[in-house]
Amino acid sequence: VRIDVHAHWLPEDRPEWRARLGDGRVVDDSYWSLERRTALLDELGIDVQVLSPFPALLPWWAPADEALDWCRAMNEALASAVGVRFRALGIVPLQDCSLAVAELERIRDLGLAGVEVGTAVDERRTFADPAVDDFLAACVELELPVLLHPNRPNPFGATRAALDAGLWRPSDTALVVGERLLRGWEAPAGLRVCIAHGGGSLPWLWSRVAIIAGAGDGLPEWISLDTAGCTPRQVDHLIDVLGPDRVFLGTDLPAGRRPAIEALLAGMAVR
Ligand SMILES: [Zn+2]
Repeated sequence: VRIDVHAHWLPEDRPEWRARLGDGRVVDDSYWSLERRTALLDELGIDVQVLSPFPALLPWWAPADEALDWCRAMNEALASAVGVRFRALGIVPLQDCSLAVAELERIRDLGLAGVEVGTAVDERRTFADPAVDDFLAACVELELPVLLHPNRPNPFGATRAALDAGLWRPSDTALVVGERLLRGWEAPAGLRVCIAHGGGSLPWLWSRVAIIAGAGDGLPEWISLDTAGCTPRQVDHLIDVLGPDRVFLGTDLPAGRRPAIEALLAGMAVR
């Protein structure tokens, strides 16, 4: 069974969510039509796709109570998309750990497969912050895996969208995970965090950080990666670093580009 763990979706009837994407992209029914998505999965030979909210819809900018309402509505919409070909990851108001844990229980009760979190928790804090530790422990207790997706705005300012997507977001991903790894935090046994886009620059540069910091060279067991945005040769390297059991297929559809996804699938099939 071929499962795509990194793909995004939003419902058609929420134009305010669509507006939040706000980066000039063309938003058509490839963003919401499950019929069209199913046909595409058939063409690509993907059996099941795990849908998550677009990272721009992780409400780090809102006060916690507003973020909770936002997440509750989003999680209900996602639950409506779950079926034979689709699973879904919910979202939580991570600005407030107790609200986030309560919504995590609801995510489980709605039948969602896990939870998506961003690198940014609010204006100030990131995924590395100790305030997130108890939330991660709750994910283990409820047996829900986590998808970590970059969403922090580029503090250096965007010059080009392609540089933001291709360089800032992988760096942001590596920065927050690296900070968590160097903090001396002990991951709860059984934690599963899939880091988007091949872990960003982390698997490429962690050995250098480890030497400088005197830290362990390997990436710990709780970390896995998806292949969204990677070339087949990059995936070979990721598998060398982490082993095949911790590298999952990710397409980033509908944002992922078709020829690149086909090349990735072809490369992973011969591996
Ligand atoms: Zn994505």
